[in-house]
Amino acid sequence: GIQPLNLVAIEIEMAEGAPVLTLANGLPDELFEHDGQITKREIRALTLSALAPRRGELLWDIGGGSGSVSIEWLLSDPSLSAIAIEKDATRAARMARNAERLGVPHLQIVEGAAPKALAGLPPPDVIFVGGGASRTRLLDTALEALKPGGRLVANAVTLQTEALLLAAHARLGGDLVRIALSRAAPVQGLTGWRSAMPVTQWRHVK
Ligand code: SAH
Repeated sequence: GIQPLNLVAIEIEMAEGAPVLTLANGLPDELFEHDGQITKREIRALTLSALAPRRGELLWDIGGGSGSVSIEWLLSDPSLSAIAIEKDATRAARMARNAERLGVPHLQIVEGAAPKALAGLPPPDVIFVGGGASRTRLLDTALEALKPGGRLVANAVTLQTEALLLAAHARLGGDLVRIALSRAAPVQGLTGWRSAMPVTQWRHVK
């Protein structure tokens, strides 16, 4: 087992040699079971910083994937809640396993495709769009559901989704941030920078 070093109200069994979770955001990707569709560690740290959890808030994590963003949100404070919406059944099941294993079994998972799957969910204080932003009406539906004063953060990797975020920013304001991350990796016995695809992030307060 993994020991959450936060104050989540769960039983913690200290097992010899078990990995310990830091309190900082940006946990190693390896802590999560995933299929490559995961918000990478450094991007995740910046994303959580932008989501900026405050006591008692509810997050919608649209396109939850492995659940890494929701899980780090929930690990930030026991008063927080999160609903992750994920259209892929395999990923939804994987996300549930990750939440259980990392000490936040109270992550609520909705298996279905947004925007349709958002209908009837309790209104969120904060929304993260990590997938599906290119779907027609997804951003509009999310913004409508968001509480006044609430925060929306959306990440784009494709040009199509980026274009939608640029348009949303032009219409509604907020901040646009581009995150270009490189990691040192072996190149023919030496070392070189391997670039990840740049992520465009739109941060908006309703
Ligand atoms: N933040 C996630 C990674 C998201 S990858 C993590 O850290 O693990 C994008 C995810 O969005 C994928 O799992 C994909 O299945 C999901 N997705 C794409 N379109 C969607 C939609 N319309 N509704 C719900 N989920 C969607």
